[in-house]
Amino acid sequence: MNVFSYKDIYIEDGKRVLEVNILPEKYCNFDCIFCPIGRSYNKVDTQQSFDEIDDSFNELESMIENNNVDLVFINSKGEALVNSRISDIIDLIKSKGVPVRLLSNGYLLGRKEYMQIANKCDEVIGEIKAISEEDFQKIQRPIEGYTLKEYISNMILFNKQYKGKFILEVTIIKGYNDTEESVNKIKNIINEISPDKVIVERMNDERFKKKLGISDERFDEISKALQNI
Ligand code: SF4
Repeated sequence: MNVFSYKDIYIEDGKRVLEVNILPEKYCNFDCIFCPIGRSYNKVDTQQSFDEIDDSFNELESMIENNNVDLVFINSKGEALVNSRISDIIDLIKSKGVPVRLLSNGYLLGRKEYMQIANKCDEVIGEIKAISEEDFQKIQRPIEGYTLKEYISNMILFNKQYKGKFILEVTIIKGYNDTEESVNKIKNIINEISPDKVIVERMNDERFKKKLGISDERFDEISKALQNI
């Protein structure tokens, strides 16, 4: 059985992108109430080993070789950094001359061992959703002891020394970070982290859209405000 799973190859800015999930099921250090993957029964921030992963390495290698891939995007069922073989996975992709983009929620990027792994990637995406300590605990339900303050400072720390392209994905959530005051707070966070690019998202999943989604008009306003910093 293969641990990895793939999306169909798609084109982004003229590049052929192979998107791969490197976790057999959800493993995450958060348990967000709106997580599209479901609850975090494996709420971890230490690396995990998975059986039969060698077959998955072979499969990934042939996927890259047979599909003229220009970029591999590691976008997993949770936090990809907790796969104990992630470093080898990145090395394998890079050995084929293909750049790597890694999606992480960003919390672990400030820890030395994970920072070194992420540093090997050409692009890293970190995320911001809740912007108050209370909301962070309430809607993102991280591992005990985590704080929003540390979350943000981990991404600041990471990006200060990172040589690649750091992308910050900000998700606007109705009732949590969609007021003017919140937008100003997000602007400050963006300035502190200083990413190369900001992507603004909102709740698009049908299950959460009604309760947590914002209108098209508000989304446009906020997107403009955050893109023009
Ligand atoms: S950080 Fe992402 S994967 Fe993890 S629980 Fe939250 S939404 Fe799900």
